[in-house]
Amino acid sequence: MHPLAKLDHRFIWHPFTQMRDWLKREPILITKGRGALLQDAHGRQYLDANSSIWTNLHGHNHPKINKALAQQLRNIAHSSALGLANQPASLLAGRLVRAANAKQGPSGKGRRYAAPAPRRLAKVFFSDDGSTAIEVALKLAYEIARRTHGNKNPRFLSLGGGYHGDTIGAVSLGHIDRFHKAYSRLLFKTDYTMAPYCYRCPFNRAKPERADARLYRQCHWECLDQLERKVAIRKKKGAPYAGFVFEPLMQGAAGMIPQPEGWLGRAAQIARSHGALLIADEVMTGFGRTGFGAQTPATGGNRSDLQPHGIRPELRHLASRPEPILFATCKEGVRPDFLAMAKGLTGGYLPMAATLATQGVFDAFLGEYEEFKTFFHGHSFTGNQLGAAAALANLDLLESPGCASSAMRLERALAEELKDLWALPNVGDIRQTGLIAGVELVKDWRTRQPFQPGERAAIRVCETMAKRGVLTRPVGDVVVLMPPYCMTRAQLQKTVAALADAISISKRAL
Ligand code: PMP
Repeated sequence: MHPLAKLDHRFIWHPFTQMRDWLKREPILITKGRGALLQDAHGRQYLDANSSIWTNLHGHNHPKINKALAQQLRNIAHSSALGLANQPASLLAGRLVRAANAKQGPSGKGRRYAAPAPRRLAKVFFSDDGSTAIEVALKLAYEIARRTHGNKNPRFLSLGGGYHGDTIGAVSLGHIDRFHKAYSRLLFKTDYTMAPYCYRCPFNRAKPERADARLYRQCHWECLDQLERKVAIRKKKGAPYAGFVFEPLMQGAAGMIPQPEGWLGRAAQIARSHGALLIADEVMTGFGRTGFGAQTPATGGNRSDLQPHGIRPELRHLASRPEPILFATCKEGVRPDFLAMAKGLTGGYLPMAATLATQGVFDAFLGEYEEFKTFFHGHSFTGNQLGAAAALANLDLLESPGCASSAMRLERALAEELKDLWALPNVGDIRQTGLIAGVELVKDWRTRQPFQPGERAAIRVCETMAKRGVLTRPVGDVVVLMPPYCMTRAQLQKTVAALADAISISKRAL
């Protein structure tokens, strides 16, 4: 065993890992990365097929992000945001606000559902990771309900199967028994409403087909009726939900559960019209993950700060360029009250997160010092300069000519490659939104019968893929493919071929 692997075995406790299994074999110890490839301590190469747990966007060791970090290092790595401002965080906040307020792209035009009237996201609270971004939104929404609406016991609603992080507030919003049940006495109570999990929805009357279940489902949007009932009851009691928390377009750790077109706009409209603030968790979905859509500059957010005479000459080149749609909420014309982002914010380089909020939320925390309306929350590394520098370079890359079109090409290629998997009887559902794909494994596609947890079906498939040089992790019985945007067609073919192979090989055992 490599000496570093021995050290790992001796001292490290890995996240979401049964350490008894971990200690049985030599771990893959990563020493290098370039583009979509990772290299281990023995010089073996692997494709990073889940973008290092959904974080990486443009590939590893990207020259532009590396350069931005090196430049920033020449100035300063970190100074506190408690009492001090800094350059990269200020620039980044402005750009995030603009990106988050983008209007819906062409796919939203002529849509047949009502989205709630947009609210403008105006302020950025920086933190460290997805969980803290959610905690910030939770605490802010809680206080709004208490202070502004006189609600003594603000309560939150989230989606069945939801996952929003591992800190106690975020866990309270979660509804995955396997992760969350053990801590139930430690948590505060939240409610859930059913997610639109078309493949396993009790209201979907359609028999299984060899297609994404969203496309052949037969239902009457009963999931939205349930949401409406829940929010209506709370409103009637005079204590509307403080917030409705959701991942837009695709629920990740719940099992890559995509929302059928129109669900998000409708759900947001229902929740908001019953008094709930909308808390969008774009920790996984943000920064183009759910697919890019183009829009003209005229429809963007406030671009006055980008005019050639404006204060930010470094951004002038963006003034005349169509903006890509970076957030899933924008794609269905939903402008939430809070937008939480992390993972892809720095292109997957550094732990940094942000929670965007409306001016109205911000104003509710203004007052004289002694009124103590201050938002008493913050982290040591809030607004960290290195993270912000990486995030600015990430935004430059996302907005650069060709990024959206090449990501869209990769998206189409992924759809094309995945088609072959329908031939496998252990593939129950294949669901793709943008550059996120989930392949749900079942005992037999005709019955949708799931595997027993002890069979470790998807784990074994991923282990076989790793032997073929492709790394990813499953969620439950769902194998996740989430390539970095720089993955080549050949690498994508290798990825999907490894998955097909792994399922076929494991078939006897499955
Ligand atoms: N929200 C979502 C939707 C996530 O997928 C995750 C992490 N997978 C989180 C929140 C928590 O993020 P972090 O692990 O960075 O705390």
